[in-house]
Amino acid sequence: MAEKYVPEERMLINGELVHADSGKTFDNINPATEEVLGVVADAGVAEMQRAIAASRRAFDETDWSTNHAFRKQCLIQLHEALVAEKEELRQELVDEVGTPIMVTTMAQLDMPLAESLLWPAEMIDKFPWDRQLADAEVMGVPSRRAIWKEAMGVVGSIVPWNYPFEVTINKIAQVLATGNTTVLKPAPDTPWNATRLGRLVAEKTDIPAGVFNVVTSSEHLVGEELTLSPLVDMISFTGSTVTGKRIMEKGANTMKRVFLELGGKSAAIILDDADFNAVVPMTSMVCMHAGQGCAMQTRILLPRARYDEGVELILAGMSMIPYGDPNDPNMIMGPLISEKQRDRVMGYIAKGVEEGATLALGGNRPAQLPKGWFVEPTVFTNVDNSMTIAQEEIFGPVLAVIAYDDDEHAIRIANDSQYGLSGGVFGSQDRAMGIARRIRTGSISVNGGVWYGADMPYGGYKSSGIGRQNGIEGFEQYLETKIVAWPAG
Ligand code: NAD
Repeated sequence: MAEKYVPEERMLINGELVHADSGKTFDNINPATEEVLGVVADAGVAEMQRAIAASRRAFDETDWSTNHAFRKQCLIQLHEALVAEKEELRQELVDEVGTPIMVTTMAQLDMPLAESLLWPAEMIDKFPWDRQLADAEVMGVPSRRAIWKEAMGVVGSIVPWNYPFEVTINKIAQVLATGNTTVLKPAPDTPWNATRLGRLVAEKTDIPAGVFNVVTSSEHLVGEELTLSPLVDMISFTGSTVTGKRIMEKGANTMKRVFLELGGKSAAIILDDADFNAVVPMTSMVCMHAGQGCAMQTRILLPRARYDEGVELILAGMSMIPYGDPNDPNMIMGPLISEKQRDRVMGYIAKGVEEGATLALGGNRPAQLPKGWFVEPTVFTNVDNSMTIAQEEIFGPVLAVIAYDDDEHAIRIANDSQYGLSGGVFGSQDRAMGIARRIRTGSISVNGGVWYGADMPYGGYKSSGIGRQNGIEGFEQYLETKIVAWPAG
């Protein structure tokens, strides 16, 4: 039975749940049915500027940035409020994201909800906010010396639509735990999980007005105000590499600190001593949430001598993927988020064929699902790593299978990418670990190990981003460093 829920149409600005000044709204569309689920406030630049000003005031004029015990209490309140509405939130995510309900029991909801707020809340007590160094005499002045860690200030939190709650909660938990204030700007495709968070902050926590704001808009450029405003100190952004670059450019004038979690084109290297029957079928994980995950292993590297055997197993795995209605608990794949994304993925599939790869499975819109933005699980074989489908992020259920000659060749192919977000190596443990060390990515799984967690600093090398989500590394990036000295003795 689908859980009933009441969506929040209002934004949160300066502690108040508000509609857009203009009264305008935009539609929230179910990507599995193409039906309008409801609406949400459609803000313009004025509302964004008010939210930024409120966030600035809250940072400058309240003790939020320095009151550790209070912050911890507020984060726990928010955690409890979310847990109380977990099942409503689950259904809301299934509806607005098109994510299979099964995926909500993993990274889409249950995994982040369990620890994203609580881990940084605990860290407030454990973190060395002040560190004393040894006394030193510099220029004849014997000095006592210390390092103080302090909040950055106002953080613009900009979020994509693929795992919206997961990204949002991991961002804002660390942003708030470290004493910053924030304006959250969700993607227009998935606004309700963010406005729900706004309502819970307003109604169920003691978080002061202005510390946490949510601004929804159908217009991306309303979000750009965050990158331009001199009142904002930092942008914490998850989304595409193209937008990440633009954010750096626009933020340069006001010397914005940036944390960027961007795209990926990760490789899974299957070694010739791997147990093919056990590991190759795992490659169909690319279909989880229709491939709309930045860490997906979308390039499968098979040893040339076992290429045909590997391809056969990949095709068998991919052709058994259950997909369709995201409310069906057996599905691991639903639709893509929008018609635009569906067309983009179909465009990449056409490009793969045009550039000479072999379309070995799928490649179409499924005839049995006339409504919703579905694409069949798709496999390209005989892919050369220079092809567009091996170099660009497709963000759909599409695998590119590439042959390699030896370990060195596999490493070269894996690293021949503008991206460096994730990857996998499968084979005898020591050999696989040695190869894992040589892959230029921010995360890597060896023989199916899972690296996800609130204490694991996740992020990218190269064009996959700057900075880390979660862990101590993530916590620290929301802090400035102040050094202080005073006379010893
Ligand atoms: P996107 O870059 O188009 O949009 C992301 C967010 O940025 C949205 O909220 C959007 O409104 C906002 N935005 C767009 N233009 C902006 C601008 N000029 N200034 C400020 N904000 C702006 O990305 P998307 O299409 O929503 O998401 C898909 C992409 O996100 C994929 O490339 C995927 O790999 C990436 N992603 C990365 C991670 C990660 O952790 N590395 C996680 C999820 C998604």
